[in-house]
Amino acid sequence: MREITPWNPITSSMQRIGLVRRNVGRFLQTLRAGRQRDGALMRGIVESSSEAILTISDDFVVEMANPAAEAIFDAGDDDLVGRPLKQLFPFFQSPGSLERYLGQGYRTVEMEGRRLDGSGFPLEATFDTMTIEGACHYVVVARDVTERHAQQKLMEYLALHDNLTGLPNRALLMDRLEHAITASRRANQPLALLLLDLDRFKEINDTLGHSVGDSLLAEVGTILSEPLRASDTVARLGGDEFAILLPSVSGLTQARDIADRVADELARPFPVEGITVEVGVSIGLALYPDHGGDASELMRGADVAMYVAKRNHMTVSVYDEGKDHHSVRNLSLSGELRQAMDADELALFYQPQVDVATGKLVGAEALLRWDHPRHGLVSPEEFVQLAEQTGLIRPLTCWVIEKSLKQLTSWQERGMDIGLSINLSPRNLHEDGLAESISEKMGKRELRPELLTLELTENAIMTDPERALTAIRKLKECGVRLAIDDFGTGYSSLAYLKALPVDELKIDKSFVMHMGDDSNDEVIVRSTIDLAHNLGLSVVAEGVESELHLQTLRGLGCDIGQGFHIGRPLRIEEFHQWAKNFKTISSGAGGIVHIHPGARSRGRAKGIPK
Ligand code: C2E
Ligand code: MG
Ligand code: MG
Repeated sequence: MREITPWNPITSSMQRIGLVRRNVGRFLQTLRAGRQRDGALMRGIVESSSEAILTISDDFVVEMANPAAEAIFDAGDDDLVGRPLKQLFPFFQSPGSLERYLGQGYRTVEMEGRRLDGSGFPLEATFDTMTIEGACHYVVVARDVTERHAQQKLMEYLALHDNLTGLPNRALLMDRLEHAITASRRANQPLALLLLDLDRFKEINDTLGHSVGDSLLAEVGTILSEPLRASDTVARLGGDEFAILLPSVSGLTQARDIADRVADELARPFPVEGITVEVGVSIGLALYPDHGGDASELMRGADVAMYVAKRNHMTVSVYDEGKDHHSVRNLSLSGELRQAMDADELALFYQPQVDVATGKLVGAEALLRWDHPRHGLVSPEEFVQLAEQTGLIRPLTCWVIEKSLKQLTSWQERGMDIGLSINLSPRNLHEDGLAESISEKMGKRELRPELLTLELTENAIMTDPERALTAIRKLKECGVRLAIDDFGTGYSSLAYLKALPVDELKIDKSFVMHMGDDSNDEVIVRSTIDLAHNLGLSVVAEGVESELHLQTLRGLGCDIGQGFHIGRPLRIEEFHQWAKNFKTISSGAGGIVHIHPGARSRGRAKGIPK
């Protein structure tokens, strides 16, 4: 069977050149043999060939050129005859160079051709020698490959650029980054890499349509390029992610200044297809050599920094090893986390929550700990994120739910009618079957669903509010209570807040803890309490670290308090011991007062409609 090879412009043109060369050889041989009829035929072939054909004498002067040769060198009739080879083929400057070239075995080659007006163009030529009646002749078959070059350049361009913005793509950025690192190493000068992620792109894309989204990305590309030097590279990595390579900076301060300037440029509203849009940006910054020794390390560093910026709603974040959840310790931790669940190394700690008005214990928050055999107690801040990144969050949350429900059952059996709050990860909202599984587990234990509160951080809800709303509604249908955790640290929109079927707002500890020394924080706490009550929600204040905090919260009408002043997160036995000894905080009443969890919803108890 004949093998069919795909068409390839280079091999195909080489085959054609080979064919023409053989014909020219036959032509010259025919002339020598004096066979006039064949000679005329061959001359016809050469004359009509689309390939340029020239014969060169042994003193490197053109002896004969066909019309195609005259066309590519932009010469008139017989204008090429008598011209030195080097005028048309500047590569062969010295007389011996063509011979040396052929001696090295080169036949077909791409080189520069020069037209009679002196302009250059790329050509592909095959050189060969022929001895006729003792004299050496060179035969050249050539063709102009300008178009092919343009096509190759276009293909290269397309492979290395993003076609929406025309900016370099990831492959070209990596290539430039590698070169820049080599140059930096030699010059002993730092370079900076910025990774940028637009903040509201998805929202704009979804609301205003993909055409506006595309125009916006193109406009962002222009805005990013404007304040930079020509030697800097702005690249689009995909979606709404861009990168900026600053191949020489004096240090972190300068790189940060540039990052701030870029963020300022993007913070300004700008027109896209007649609509004024506003996008923010989160920028991660990594510096060579401080944050990475090669291109991939630097990319990863900038990516981690960008993730930190995004999470914390900062515009610019500089890579910090401590926040790198892929650091060596974390890598080994992620491998061990799964085993830890089986090996019973995880534990729930319980932090008491008290009614601020009466000072009585009303519930607890279950906080996860990893009792690591080598590292001791590992904070959930360190491994929950790991679990999110490695897909372990689902079994981890299942474990927490199971353990918490078991604990609630045990409290019910002991006559302790207190509620328990657990934390859900944003990832849990994307899981199918979470609500059903909670419902089924509570039903089996015959637990009243309102004893369980599920906490979701503000960021978890606001990252994808529509999806969160659907998931939250489903959870609410199980009858459990829902709380927004760390309220005040994200960008909750009041419109969404109103639409969410939540029962509780937990004011982030960072506001509560600083109420005494920052009057703004007290204003925030006061307004949040008012807002929550007006929406029919009860308020939990985290971070109650002093008696003053508690008194202030009482004055502001806060419902529930939680913090080190009341009690730290404790192992279950310690929690029971604490509860046994606990009277009431800042109140004269004695003993634990077991109150109905309904009392936790003070906001609603005041008769404010939801
Ligand atoms: P969170 O839900 O906001 O929990 C409150 C955090 O504040 C706890 O940190 C608690 O120990 C700490 N805290 C409580 N009172 C005070 C105080 O008065 N002062 C100060 N400075 N801190 C106080 P922890 O236990 O390290 O947990 C950190 C975060 O990890 C939690 O924040 C929660 O978001 C997450 N987390 C904890 N357990 C779980 C879990 O089971 N699943 C998930 N997905 N996340 C969890
Ligand atoms: Mg919480
Ligand atoms: Mg919190």
